[in-house]
Amino acid sequence: MSALLEVRDLHVEFRTRDGVAKAVNGVSYGVGAGETLAVLGESGSGKSVTAQAIMGILDSPPGHVTGGQVLFQGRDLLTLSKEERRRVRGAKMAMIFQDALSSLNPVHTVGAQLGEMFQVHEGMSRKDARVKAVELMDRVRIPAAKERVNDYPHQFSGGMRQRIMIAMALALEPDLIIADEPTTALDVTVQAQVMDLLAELQREFTMGLILITHDLGVVADVADKIAVMYAGRIVETAPVHELYKRPAHPYTRGLLDSIPRLDRKGQELYAIKGLPPNLMAIPPGCPFHPRCPRAQDVCVTDRPPLFPVTENDGTELPGRAGACHFWKDELNAS
Ligand code: SF4
Ligand code: MG
Repeated sequence: MSALLEVRDLHVEFRTRDGVAKAVNGVSYGVGAGETLAVLGESGSGKSVTAQAIMGILDSPPGHVTGGQVLFQGRDLLTLSKEERRRVRGAKMAMIFQDALSSLNPVHTVGAQLGEMFQVHEGMSRKDARVKAVELMDRVRIPAAKERVNDYPHQFSGGMRQRIMIAMALALEPDLIIADEPTTALDVTVQAQVMDLLAELQREFTMGLILITHDLGVVADVADKIAVMYAGRIVETAPVHELYKRPAHPYTRGLLDSIPRLDRKGQELYAIKGLPPNLMAIPPGCPFHPRCPRAQDVCVTDRPPLFPVTENDGTELPGRAGACHFWKDELNAS
């Protein structure tokens, strides 16, 4: 798949009074047109910060990109001026956040907010923009869009508000959407509906989609591939179904084992012991070693690079990599 976005060896630091937090430490990933990449990890793993750096909305200062490239349609966004970045962000990339209520303006109707996209970016008249707003609301299946276009954000349910956020993101038909925990605030049934809608629209518009989540359960059906992050690094990448069947990293397995499953009803849910590391003091060696059930002496001293993951006989497994000294053992444990 042709790369729409290619992040290469990205580093981001936050310089605070208490020290330097190394939030992103050499992340590389890519997504093609029409492809969905899920980025998975606990909070503080660097998944949102990476997205903010891609979008050019990093809270800066204290955040600084200290290295790497963000190639979007072949251009390194990190070398563009603020103005050029704003243009790319408006027309070609959009982001959806977890909390629609704080992203929408409470004192304007949703119709006015959706319409504004077309007025500002495409110079449409107010009237035409309103027609487009209704069309978009229909697109994201908000019932009775024609009447509801004049309602305010608080008059919609959480799920409907998230649909409005999706509509806003889609308005200018971007090439890439980054959705950061888009369904986390919703209940489970609504989560699935919103996720299905996002996946459907993504296919229809052949956009690239980066789906950031801490919940492996929500991405299984919609993602093509997954990158698992820990302490600002990617620790495993794989096509989605392979990752579920045969993880190559103990952290991934821990995440998988902590998903509630019907066939294990009644059994106690597994939880990875301990907490993610303080980003101002990331452990030496493998950053996961204090929490890893498989850790050996080497893990405390030697940082594992992202190894290509292969079958036992050396057969390549395209798209697979794991940052674990014992990835083979983990792979074969399934
Ligand atoms: Fe665990 Fe060692 Fe692998 Fe890190 S390198 S995940 S500590 S086994
Ligand atoms: Mg986050």
